[in-house]
Amino acid sequence: MNSSQIPNPKSQAPLALILFGSPGSGKGTQSKLLAKALGIPQISTGDMLREHVRRGNAVGTKVEAKMKAGILVKDYVVNQLVEERLAQPDAANGFILDGYPRTRAQAEVLCGILSPRGVQAVVIHLVVDYNVIIARLTGRRQCPVCGTLYNVTSKPPKVPGVCDLEGAKLIVRDDDREEVIRERLDEYEKQTRPLIDFFRETGNRLYEIDASHDNPQAVFGKIEELIRES
Ligand code: ADP
Repeated sequence: MNSSQIPNPKSQAPLALILFGSPGSGKGTQSKLLAKALGIPQISTGDMLREHVRRGNAVGTKVEAKMKAGILVKDYVVNQLVEERLAQPDAANGFILDGYPRTRAQAEVLCGILSPRGVQAVVIHLVVDYNVIIARLTGRRQCPVCGTLYNVTSKPPKVPGVCDLEGAKLIVRDDDREEVIRERLDEYEKQTRPLIDFFRETGNRLYEIDASHDNPQAVFGKIEELIRES
């Protein structure tokens, strides 16, 4: 174990961490930090779907238009991707779910996978002010070559509009256009946020973290503390 790793929590069961929150809440960033610290994989349905789109395969073709429009893809498509991914050996000792489950049907499928394994999920809900979310998503820019993310206000490149590492012209992700952001937030409010009740009803441990103003490292510190105690 290296010094940046978090010791295993008290329970012996594999850790199933669900990072929950609206688009722009920082789920992806926190999941990456946690995956590194805990030595378990980050499973991001958004990344998996984008990879299928990039490859142009059958799944990619099926989901591309929905993703561009900021609409959730069909439950059976993501459920199958997640089921296959969780069956991989590297997920046997725990995993971090980033962007899944996002609907009640997905949450029920996940319960069906976790219950027989004797695993109860720990849900970390990242709560972020609406205005902060909008500023984060509308200001996000990405390097088309290396994928580095910037933000015009909170993490600007040295030269405006240009990647520090590649010198390439930064782009706005298709689904970070303003009208699509509205659609993504709408989907979250209607389909995803109500899952909090589901997590409560099914007895999962659910922690809320205020992630509006702290930097990513400070938010990570708060999550780390919770996991140590759980
Ligand atoms: P964000 O959380 O910022 O919207 P993601 O990368 O998690 O970004 O998701 C991007 C898009 O991928 C979503 O708008 C949706 O179209 C699709 N997607 C990702 N995860 C799911 C999921 N669990 N269920 C349905 N659609 C999903």
